[in-house]
Amino acid sequence: MLRAAMLPARQALIEAAQAMAARGLSAGTSGNVSLRTEEGILITPSATPYEALTPEMIPLLKPDGTYEGRYRPSSEWRFHLDIYLARPEIGGVVHHHAPYTTALAMARREIPACHYMIARFGGAPLRLAAYALFGTAELSANVLAALEGCTACLMENHGGIAVGRDVATALAAATELEVLAQQYTLSLAAGGPVLLSDDEVAAAVRQFATAYRANTGA
Ligand code: 13P
Ligand code: ZN
Repeated sequence: MLRAAMLPARQALIEAAQAMAARGLSAGTSGNVSLRTEEGILITPSATPYEALTPEMIPLLKPDGTYEGRYRPSSEWRFHLDIYLARPEIGGVVHHHAPYTTALAMARREIPACHYMIARFGGAPLRLAAYALFGTAELSANVLAALEGCTACLMENHGGIAVGRDVATALAAATELEVLAQQYTLSLAAGGPVLLSDDEVAAAVRQFATAYRANTGA
């Protein structure tokens, strides 16, 4: 029996997951999306096409790793849960295998201070989480370390993750992560980017914290 109060949250999760797929960020059933509620974590079910999702198919994950619902949570429930436990300010998590993000992750290249927009993620570089088998506690630990102090990271030979205060903000960050990965990859082909200094990145972080964030909440 679905709790009526959770229907809007389930719908917001489905909307974000379907938008992720529609934007070309996750082919097939790759990737996963979650959001925090007062009753637990709503997370996309494992290996289920995004277009087929309905509110009652969304599992509710509890802090002890158990869940309610007929469908099994994403195989990556551990890093979703561990991010929420470690980062109280985070309300949404998006993981994808988007083409440019994943290409850099396969080449094991972090994203350096190649564009001021990197400051919207909290600073530079966007780090690489060390490779570990998908769905493991080891991968979760590596992801938490790479995400420290920022809102996005790459995952070696896998993909990327972005987080935000809610699921819409996390999806916006995940989309911009892929754009930045694409721009960086293209700049490598154009001879390689000239990198911004630490002071220039710090100034951009401050600028985001005032002028930009006041409107976007990003
Ligand atoms: P799930 O379908 O279990 O969420 O797995 C997709 C994925 O991207 C694993 O890393
Ligand atoms: Zn994945």
